[in-house]
Amino acid sequence: MKANCWMGTRHVQVEDVPDPKILNSRDAIIRITNTAICGSDLHLYNGFVPTMKRGDIMGHEFMGEVVELGKDVRNLAIGDRVVVPFPIACGHCLQCEREMYSLCENSNPNAWMAEKLWGYSPCGIFGYSHMLGGYAGGQAEYARVPFADIGPIKIPDNLDDEKVLFLSDIFPTGYMAADMCGIQPGDIVAVWGCGPVGQFAIKSAYMLGAERVIAIDRFKYRLDWAREKAGAETINYEEVNELEALPQMTGGRGPDHCIDAVGMEGHAPGLEGAYDKVKTNLFLETDRPAALRHAIMACRSGGTVSVAGVYSGLIDKFPMGVIVNRSLTLRSGQCHVQRYMRPLLERIQNGEIDPSFVISHRLPLRNAAEGYEKFVNKDDNCLKVVLKT
Ligand SMILES: [Zn+2]
Ligand SMILES: [Zn+2]
Repeated sequence: MKANCWMGTRHVQVEDVPDPKILNSRDAIIRITNTAICGSDLHLYNGFVPTMKRGDIMGHEFMGEVVELGKDVRNLAIGDRVVVPFPIACGHCLQCEREMYSLCENSNPNAWMAEKLWGYSPCGIFGYSHMLGGYAGGQAEYARVPFADIGPIKIPDNLDDEKVLFLSDIFPTGYMAADMCGIQPGDIVAVWGCGPVGQFAIKSAYMLGAERVIAIDRFKYRLDWAREKAGAETINYEEVNELEALPQMTGGRGPDHCIDAVGMEGHAPGLEGAYDKVKTNLFLETDRPAALRHAIMACRSGGTVSVAGVYSGLIDKFPMGVIVNRSLTLRSGQCHVQRYMRPLLERIQNGEIDPSFVISHRLPLRNAAEGYEKFVNKDDNCLKVVLKT
């Protein structure tokens, strides 16, 4: 089959690779119809995530048709259309029973690698380094899906692929970011980052009762998207310092909740940006947490800072004093996608949201490398790339 493989920093390539096979009785093989490039794939692309190997198949956002089933998968049938959640989860361990699927204790065969960095291991993830299981990803014609009786969700015939594809990651991820805020009716929510997860965080904050959502980015087209398609007020932080603008826009108190949908490759103008650049180049910090620092500084006293952006290691100049002295709550986590898929599918079916609003580019799988280039360089107003097999 064809698959998009990581060949080194800033280098992906579609290669011929062996077809996946059923290895365990709870596996399924999916013939992929649509798959997407995620902002977190760019961290792999840019070489920020350790334990990638040349030839690894990328991708954790995919859907398709069931073509083969292990004997213990009884809830799916050959020919079913399914969306696959990015966290691989067994469904029966302590964490899965608490619906903390991205913390599954049974799905990372390379747990020891993650333990070295993080103390304990989270779940395995498709196409996301050997440290997170070394699983082949879904930017391919086929994928093996472990624990297929727990993860994939069956899609009704009347819903197009593009409406449901993002149930695999970015819609639930944006929704969980808003959910973690504990939004009360009338609240004001600020969202750093108007990439796809940021767009879904904005929409989700409204669905959960926010009265106003203020979005912060530095790219005009992404801010326009947030305003026109997601309904946010916007701040371009290269034109206006958001730490001065946000109090003015919120009666001097700050937003009730702040969402970081940027993660470890944040930018900041001036001295702060230069500081993080030097520190990461010298390996004195691994991540550039500008958005997180600003979210903490801007948040109303007693509010919540919710982190949906991906961080991998160590950060510097973390304003802990603000969290303690202003009673902030910091929440985070890789999304527990399995928890959200059904309720969010219902919202799609009810017409509350059409997740395809984030798609800017559609390309055949064979042009995956072009998709990564466009996405990483933000060429041609690229917001979200869907690859068609
Ligand atoms: Zn993703
Ligand atoms: Zn589990």
